[in-house]
Amino acid sequence: MSGALSDTELLELYTEGRNLTQQSRMLLTLQIILGSPPERDLNALSLGDRDRCFWTAREKLSGTAFDAKIECQSCQEWMEISCGPDFAIPEKVQDSAVVPFQGEDYELRLPNISDLQAAKAGFPYERLNPSAPWQEPLFRKNASQALEKADPGMDVLFLANCENCESSIEASLDVFRFLWTDLQARAQSLLGEIITLARAFGWSETQCLSLPPARRRLYLEHLA
Ligand SMILES: [Zn+2]
Repeated sequence: MSGALSDTELLELYTEGRNLTQQSRMLLTLQIILGSPPERDLNALSLGDRDRCFWTAREKLSGTAFDAKIECQSCQEWMEISCGPDFAIPEKVQDSAVVPFQGEDYELRLPNISDLQAAKAGFPYERLNPSAPWQEPLFRKNASQALEKADPGMDVLFLANCENCESSIEASLDVFRFLWTDLQARAQSLLGEIITLARAFGWSETQCLSLPPARRRLYLEHLA
């Protein structure tokens, strides 16, 4: 995991990523935050590792605390949930899961990005081990529990009770959406800073961004 995004990297990512599909934007973001060469195939990255990368990048950008809105499936009321600064995505326990079923052990690899791309109707579980008995509902249930145990960071769920109708609500944490929202806000505020400095001093974008952030703030404070 490389360090935080520089302001230049962040603006480049935002400029290119905003016009891409969600999937391509996600891959580009991963490539930049991991500092990985374009030829590295990130499709093999597990979903838990992907989200931990996004979470670390988001933490460096704006900390770990967050607020999210979730919708109650029973009464359609929206509720706000908040997480404090000690929230973290759980670590991976194992690189694969073993599911014993009818006297045999089936090893499953963890779901990765390419599985999502191959998904048509529902998650293509058979890709995790093509010879496993996926047609058996009990096997599917055990497999999903074993995967969750192997990597609890793969799909972080929040449980809440609806204040309106008291149903219990389950919501998945969409880590990339948090990261992109914050990245977008940061890119827009950077653009504002560049425009202010360019108007005041005639500096180019490169000149504005080459100032260390603390120094840039000093100039902006004087202009305010
Ligand atoms: Zn409700």
